[in-house]
Amino acid sequence: MEVMEAKKTRIYSFGDKTADGNRTMKNLLGGKGANLAEMSAIGIPVPPGFTISTEVCTEYNELGDAAVKDLLKEDLKQAVAKVEKIMGASFGNDKDPLLLSVRSGARVSMPGMMDTVLNLGLNDVSVVGLAQKTGNERFAWDSYRRFIQMYGSVVMGLKPESKEDMDPFEEVIDHLKDKRNISLDTDFTIQDLKDLVYDFKDIIHKRTGLDFPTNPWEQLWGSIVAVFNSWNGNRALYYRKMHGYPADWGTAVNVQAMVFGNMGDNSGTGVCFTRDAGTGENQFNGEYLINAQGEDVVAGVRTPQQITKVGSKRWAELARVDEKARVEFYPSLEELMPEMYAELNAYQQQLEDHYRDMQDMEFTIQAGKMWILQTRNGKRTGAAMVKIAMDLLKEGMISEEEAMLLIEPYKLDELLHPVFDPKAIKKANIIAQGLPASPGAATGQIVFFADEADKFRNTILVRVETSPEDLEGMNKARGILTARGGMTSHAAVVARGIGKCCVSGAGALKINYKERKFEVDGKEFHEGEWLSINGTTGNIIEGKVATKDPELSGEFGELMTLSDKFSKMVVRTNADTPKEAAIARSFGAEGIGLTRTEHMFFESDRIRAMREMILARHEKGRRKALRMLLPMQREDFEGIFEAMDGLPVTIRLLDPPLHEFVPHQLATQKELAEEMHISLTAVKTKVHELEEFNPMLGHRGCRLGNTYPEITEMQTRAIIEAALNVKERGIKVFPEIMIPLVGTLEEYEAQEEVIRSTAKEIFEERGDTVEFMVGTMIEVPRAAIIADKIAEKADFFSFGTNDLTQMTYGYSRDDAAKFMPIYLKKGILHADPFQVVDREGVGALVKMGTEKGRSAKPNLKVGVCGEHGGDPSSVEFFCGIGLNYVSCSPFRVPIARISAAQANIKFGC
Ligand code: ADP
Ligand code: MG
Ligand code: MG
Repeated sequence: MEVMEAKKTRIYSFGDKTADGNRTMKNLLGGKGANLAEMSAIGIPVPPGFTISTEVCTEYNELGDAAVKDLLKEDLKQAVAKVEKIMGASFGNDKDPLLLSVRSGARVSMPGMMDTVLNLGLNDVSVVGLAQKTGNERFAWDSYRRFIQMYGSVVMGLKPESKEDMDPFEEVIDHLKDKRNISLDTDFTIQDLKDLVYDFKDIIHKRTGLDFPTNPWEQLWGSIVAVFNSWNGNRALYYRKMHGYPADWGTAVNVQAMVFGNMGDNSGTGVCFTRDAGTGENQFNGEYLINAQGEDVVAGVRTPQQITKVGSKRWAELARVDEKARVEFYPSLEELMPEMYAELNAYQQQLEDHYRDMQDMEFTIQAGKMWILQTRNGKRTGAAMVKIAMDLLKEGMISEEEAMLLIEPYKLDELLHPVFDPKAIKKANIIAQGLPASPGAATGQIVFFADEADKFRNTILVRVETSPEDLEGMNKARGILTARGGMTSHAAVVARGIGKCCVSGAGALKINYKERKFEVDGKEFHEGEWLSINGTTGNIIEGKVATKDPELSGEFGELMTLSDKFSKMVVRTNADTPKEAAIARSFGAEGIGLTRTEHMFFESDRIRAMREMILARHEKGRRKALRMLLPMQREDFEGIFEAMDGLPVTIRLLDPPLHEFVPHQLATQKELAEEMHISLTAVKTKVHELEEFNPMLGHRGCRLGNTYPEITEMQTRAIIEAALNVKERGIKVFPEIMIPLVGTLEEYEAQEEVIRSTAKEIFEERGDTVEFMVGTMIEVPRAAIIADKIAEKADFFSFGTNDLTQMTYGYSRDDAAKFMPIYLKKGILHADPFQVVDREGVGALVKMGTEKGRSAKPNLKVGVCGEHGGDPSSVEFFCGIGLNYVSCSPFRVPIARISAAQANIKFGC
C-alpha cells in the first residue's frame, strides 16, 4: 500500500481578487509576495501571479539546481496555468504570448538588492506575434530589447568591465543615440529597437559564448535560479551584514503577469508615497514617466514627472523650469490623466488605512488601465518617522502603542545631527541646485566611486546615478550627490533609509568619471576638493560650510512625553561634566548613572598634582598632592550636582591604572623631573614600575583605593563637601558613591569603611549632613556570583557591562578588533557583544546578580552603566529582567527611553 504524504506547499498563487497567502506570511512569501497577496485579496488591481516560498530558496541552497527543479516542476506548471487562465494568453505561445516578470523579495525590504527580469517569454518568433496581436510593433520590440538587456545582465551576468566603464548594454544604447543624434529612449525607431536586439544578442554571445535562450521555460527557470543566487550575491551579503539579517532567511521569487507601461502615450509607470518620506508631511507624492517600463523612473533614464500638481510646482521651482514649460513638458499625472490620478489617489488612501502606516507603492498604467505592482511600509528619515507616527496617532488611525512601535529607536539619532548654520549659508557660494532627496547637511571631499568613499575622512560621493552596488560606499560617505534621478531614485530611497544626506537630479553637473571631475557653469571640481550639500534644500555649495546643533520638532517632544507613559524603567546618563549632564537632562535623563572621576584629572593644572601624587614615595607626599586636587574635584562635583538638581548622581571612585596618568615621552618626563625637583632617572624608574603586562587586570579599580585609601578619602571628601555646599544653595542632591571593580566582599567592606568614616568626619566638622548611598559596580564575574553577600552591605548595584563582557568572554576590548570582524563574518559570533548584550552569558550573569542581590536586599536598586544602556535590544533585555534603570551617553538617552517604552508595550515589563 502506498503511503500518502501531505504535500508541502511551495508555491502560493494570487490574482483576480483572491490569494493563497496574506500580509502576515512575510517569512514564507517575502515582503513583496505577502503584500501582493494581501492587495489582491482586498480588491486592489494586481496582475495575477504566484510566489515561490523562501523555503524553496533554502532547499535550493542545500540540494542544488537539478533537485529543486524536480521538486517544483509540477507546481510551477499549474501555477503558470492559473495565470494563463486569468490573462487569457498562454506562456510560450508564438501568436499570443503571456509575458511574465520574475521578482525577488526577502522578508524585509532590501530596495534594489536583488534583480528583476521583465517581459520574460519573448523570443524572435513571439515578438512578431506580440506586435501583431497588439498592433503595436514598436512596443513589442521595445519590450524585447528590454528583456534581453535585463536577462543578459541579471541571469547571464554581463557587467561593466571596470568601474570606469559603462554597462555594456547602455554603451550600445548610447552609441546608437549618438549615431542617430537623439537623446531619449522614446526617440528610437522600430528599426533602431530591432538593431538593439541584434547587437545585444551579439555582445552576449561574444562575452559568454552562449546563445540567448529562446525557450520560455528555460528563460523562466534561469531567472528563478538567478533570484535564488542573488541572495548570496555581494550586495545582498553586505546589506544583510549591515542589518544583521541571517543567511537562512532566503528570498522568495515572485512570478507575475506583465502589465505594460510602454504601450504608448496612454501608458506609463511610477512610484509614489502616501506621505513625504523626507519630512513626514501628510502629502501624497511621487513620480512617473509616460511610455516607460519598470525601473525607468528609479534609474533616472529620463527626468521623471511629479504625480501631484503641488509637487510638480515645487519641483519646477527647484529645477528652475518656468510654468509654461512645466505644463507643456512635465505635467503632473493629476493634470495629464485626472481619472488615472483619482483612481491612484483612492488606492493610496485605501492602502495606508489598511496597513496603518505610510506606504511606498509602484504602479503601472497600461493603455488607460491602472495596476498596482507593489506596496510596502515606506522607508523614511528619522524626522519623518517621528512626524508620521504622531500624525497617524492624532488622526485617530493608530493607537498610542502602535505609534510607539512605529519608531525605530536608532533612527532618532539622525534628528540630533547638526544642520548648516544659516549664517554660514548666507555667505556660501551655491554652485547648483538639485532635489532635496534626503535631509541633513554634509561637508566632505569629492569622490566619484563608491569603493573610494573612504579615501578621505569625510567624503561626498558624486555619481551620475547610484546603483545597488554602491550601497557600501553610500554608507561610508557623508553625503550623496547625483546628477540624474528624482526623489524616488535609488540614491534618494537608499539615503533616506540609512539616514544619509542626499541631493539628487542635479542636472547642471557634467560628470567625467575618467578624469575624476565634474563641471558646473564652466567651473571644474576635482576629486579631493571640498563640497557641501544640503539635503533639506537641494543646495550644492562650494567648499566647507559651518554647522550647528539641530532644533528638535514639537512632535519629537510629544513622542518623548508619550514614551514616559509606557516605560517603567528609568533612563539615566553617563556624564562627566556639567555640560554633558545638562544635555542629557534636556533629552530627559532622570539622573546620572555614571560619572567617571578620572577624566577630571587630565586638565593641565590637575595632571601635575595627579602625577605628583603618583610619584610620591610615601603616604605623606601623596596626601600633600591630594590636598591640591581636592578643591578642583569638589568644584567639578558642585557643577554636576547643580546641573542635576533634584536627581540622583552616581560617582565612581578612581578606576584606571595609574600608568595612564604618567608621561611616556622623554621631553615631558624631563619637564616633570624639573618641576618636581627629582632626577630624570627617578621619573623613568617610576614610569617603568607602573608598567603592567595586563593593565586591564592589574592595579586598578578598588585595588587602587584599597592600597592607597587616602585617594578614596580625598574623593569622598570632595563629593560630600560639594553636596553640602550646593545644599546650602538650596539644591537637592542625592550622591551615590560607587566602588569600582569589586570582586570580594572584603574589598567592598574596606572601601565602604573609608567612605563612611570620612563622611562622618565631615558631617561633624560642618554640623550638617546630607543623605548619600554607597554601592558598587558589578563588573567582575565573581561579584555577580557572590552578589547576595555584597548586597547585604551595598545600597545599590550598577552593572558595568563593558568590563563584565570583557571578563566573561576573556576578550580584551582594545584588542578585539583583530578577530571580531572575522568572528562576525564567519557567524562564530552573531553580534558584537560589546554593542549588543550577550543574553546567554553576560546577560545571565546580570540576571543572576540581580536576583541574588535582591534575595538579600529586596529593594536593592539595580542599574546598568555600560555601552549597552543605549542599545535597544539590550535595553529590552534589561527591562525584562527587572532592572531599575539603564544609563547611557547623553545622545543615546532618547533611544533608550523609546526602547524602554517599547519593551513595556511588547513584554509588559
Ligand atoms: P525592486 O524590488 O528592485 O523594486 P521589483 O521586482 O519591484 O524590484 O521590480 C522592478 C520594477 O519592475 C518595478 O518598477 C516594478 O513595478 C516593475 N515590475 C515588476 N513586475 C512587473 C510586472 N509584472 N508588470 C510591470 N512592471 C513590473
Ligand atoms: Mg519594487
Ligand atoms: Mg569598569
